[in-house]
Amino acid sequence: MAKKRDYYEILGITKGASQEEIKNAYRRLAKKYHPDVNPENKKESEEKFKELSEAYEILSDPNKRAQYDQFGHEGMKNTFGSGGFTWSDFTHFSDIEDILGNIFGGGMFGDFFERASQSQRRKRVYRGANLRYDLEISLKEAAFGCEKTITIDRSEVCPICNGSGGKPGVGTKECPSCKGTGQVRFTQGFFSIAKTCDKCYGQGTIITTPCERCNGKGKTTRSRTITVKIPAGVDTGSQIRLRGEGEGGGYGGEAGDLYVVIAVKEDKTFIREDTNLICEIPISFSQAALGTEIKIPTVDGERIKMKIPPGTQTHKVFRLKGKGIPSLHGYGRGDLFARVIVVTPTKLNERQRQLLEELGRISGEHEFKSEKGLFDKFKNTFGG
Ligand SMILES: [Zn+2]
Ligand SMILES: [Zn+2]
Repeated sequence: MAKKRDYYEILGITKGASQEEIKNAYRRLAKKYHPDVNPENKKESEEKFKELSEAYEILSDPNKRAQYDQFGHEGMKNTFGSGGFTWSDFTHFSDIEDILGNIFGGGMFGDFFERASQSQRRKRVYRGANLRYDLEISLKEAAFGCEKTITIDRSEVCPICNGSGGKPGVGTKECPSCKGTGQVRFTQGFFSIAKTCDKCYGQGTIITTPCERCNGKGKTTRSRTITVKIPAGVDTGSQIRLRGEGEGGGYGGEAGDLYVVIAVKEDKTFIREDTNLICEIPISFSQAALGTEIKIPTVDGERIKMKIPPGTQTHKVFRLKGKGIPSLHGYGRGDLFARVIVVTPTKLNERQRQLLEELGRISGEHEFKSEKGLFDKFKNTFGG
């Protein structure tokens, strides 16, 4: 067996060659020795081409290259196995594809290549894109659910040409390059490459007369009105997925989904915390002191009676069970927390003033200021 040649020598480069130089050397020599370019010398050029590719496989990979630099061909035994380099060890077919494209570009194929036999049509089936629609609803709608009609513009498969882009009946013909398969397969003695047909972009047909509706694009934009059912209990950020209401897919691919993203508008009366609601109820001092019965607004819209016991302090919170937001998961309902705010009157008529002064007097409030402890505390705090 002849002594194995040095990889650097095979590629005609120096030991210090850069990755770019290695690649360029391979490209140059692969073109020169490719079996298609040397039909009269096929066997030899096949071997030469293989040798080049082996050298390139090693030197283009920094790890393998370092291994080779240190141990020479001995160091490659683990990489290639006992039989040495085979085409299944080669990881740069895309580089060869580039080179082949350069040599045989423009639809000219060498004799060496054989088109793949007619197989089933391979169109690029793809799923349509998902769409997002932001929908603002009121708190009440969020609480109890609602139905909303929304209008979206989405692209759909053209109904006239069914996505082919060609005028129905006459607008398309089978791609002559790939005979309708969408792929061109180069079969060589030692390896084969399947490539998306670049005449029809893998679709198997080419357009001769464009569809008038979509101008050959195969898609049209349509405004669609959809009724969306919003379930009870949704909150800001909730998403409702409408299957198949997104963009149309291509070549039989399924349509994408439409996501309706909920934003709940701020409410004048209620603050929401998960399934609970909080509201503030202003009451007067006398109501707080004497106790009363007031009507509380609810998210349902009705007002319900609530007892304020005598002696209620401001900010006291009353809980009304089950008057909050229904759970999105369908069981239970949150509570309503009513926080009473005792409101100090700002405008007093003469009679009211007299009564309050009287109240103050009989409550002994005139003594309040001279109450020693409190007054001193006040003085200390404010340095008076
Ligand atoms: Zn069309
Ligand atoms: Zn084609």
